[in-house]
Amino acid sequence: MTGGVHGRVDDAVVVGGGAAGLCLAHWLTRTGTGVTLVEAPDGPLRPAERTWCYWEAGTGEFEEAVVASWQRLRVRGPDGSAVGSDPSPLRYRMVRSGPFEQLVHSRLAAAPEARVLRATAHEVRDAPYGAEVRCTTADGRPLTLRGRYVFDSRPVPGAPPHRTILLQHFRGWFVRTAAPRFEPQVADLMDFRVPQPRHGLAFGYVLPLAPDRALVEYTEFSRAPLTTAAYEAALRQYSAGVLRLGRFTVESAEQGVIPMTDARFPRRTGRAVFRIGAAGGATRPATGYTFAAVQRQSRAIATALRDGRPGVPPPHGRRALAMDAVLLRALDTGRVDGPRFFTDLFRRVPMERLLRFLDGGSTPWEEFGIGLRTPVGPMLRTAAEVPFLARRATGRSEESS
Ligand SMILES: Cc1cc2nc3c(=O)[nH]c(=O)nc-3n(C[C@H](O)[C@H](O)[C@H](O)COP(=O)(O)OP(=O)(O)OC[C@H]3O[C@@H](n4cnc5c(N)ncnc54)[C@H](O)[C@@H]3O)c2cc1C
Repeated sequence: MTGGVHGRVDDAVVVGGGAAGLCLAHWLTRTGTGVTLVEAPDGPLRPAERTWCYWEAGTGEFEEAVVASWQRLRVRGPDGSAVGSDPSPLRYRMVRSGPFEQLVHSRLAAAPEARVLRATAHEVRDAPYGAEVRCTTADGRPLTLRGRYVFDSRPVPGAPPHRTILLQHFRGWFVRTAAPRFEPQVADLMDFRVPQPRHGLAFGYVLPLAPDRALVEYTEFSRAPLTTAAYEAALRQYSAGVLRLGRFTVESAEQGVIPMTDARFPRRTGRAVFRIGAAGGATRPATGYTFAAVQRQSRAIATALRDGRPGVPPPHGRRALAMDAVLLRALDTGRVDGPRFFTDLFRRVPMERLLRFLDGGSTPWEEFGIGLRTPVGPMLRTAAEVPFLARRATGRSEESS
């Protein structure tokens, strides 16, 4: 942090204190970089509490916030056949955004070079000393924050130009059953024993928290979200008809939409202004998982800044993005059958390798092998056409052929 004619100038200002902003502020502090984190006051800009799941080996940086973790992961085909395995050394983990925020805020409060402010950011722009963030505080006062670099995680409206955009949309219930119904050590990532939509695919997702408690979700990858009533109907059908939960109560619910797209998200929007998190393309197009990429990226940004190399590395590798673009298009055009594609993939590729691939940690040879375990004909046909399709700012996918 430096003082000057403009008052306090932080090494870094982080805009938005969600998954990406919190992780980055944490890692900046750990590497001795002065940081101001500005998060929106309570109100419409602040997202509802949510669950972030990811896989990681060993003990992670945010272990205290992990509320549950699973040793075994399972995928079920439409006929109920199960493929399950232990992806050791990786372990699937769940954090809740509220306790995660509290943990990071308490760490930042203990670091003299960090501060957390509550204000709404309106404008982020380059300035002679770096960049500035114009904000309004909760009580209506204007506030300008100054930093040598600004990292902005505010959501961007609409996706940048793309060939394909599917929405991963879902609603989940935290249920408590009258009798023990769940296997606490097994997480069901995809359970295709649900009716499939006309376009895209649908699956159940079950994360047990105890023998009688779980997060049970209904998820679709398709073009438009459902009404809450339609999610509730699908969840009722899945809980009663498929999982046979018997008597249960719904203790709370969460709902969300995650765009899955081959859009290219700019990561630098000014000389000293960078975009991070979902707004900077951290969501893995083929899965919607974002949290693990955000953690990797935050650490890399903080290390690079400490070493005098300011910048934001790409959250996903080029090969991975190219493979995801093909898969999204193949799903969107209906050339591959979603439930079959995913169950076959999990059956044929060791879980640990697949998860490592999704985290960008696989070798080209392993990726070639994964490609061979997909429906090669439709995927190759799609791969051949994707480079010739223009990215367009349509707001939705190109029509299926
Ligand atoms: C319900 C739900 C569940 C999800 N579950 C998973 C999961 O299990 N695993 C996974 O990997 N991904 C998951 N995702 C996807 C992704 O991880 C999350 O969307 C994640 O929150 C993205 O992090 P972010 O920091 O980019 O955005 P956010 O977490 O949304 O953070 C943006 C922050 O910016 C703040 N903000 C907005 N506007 C302003 C402003 N003008 N001024 C100041 N602050 C502002 C907001 O208050 C917010 O805190 C989920 C998404 C949803 C919606």
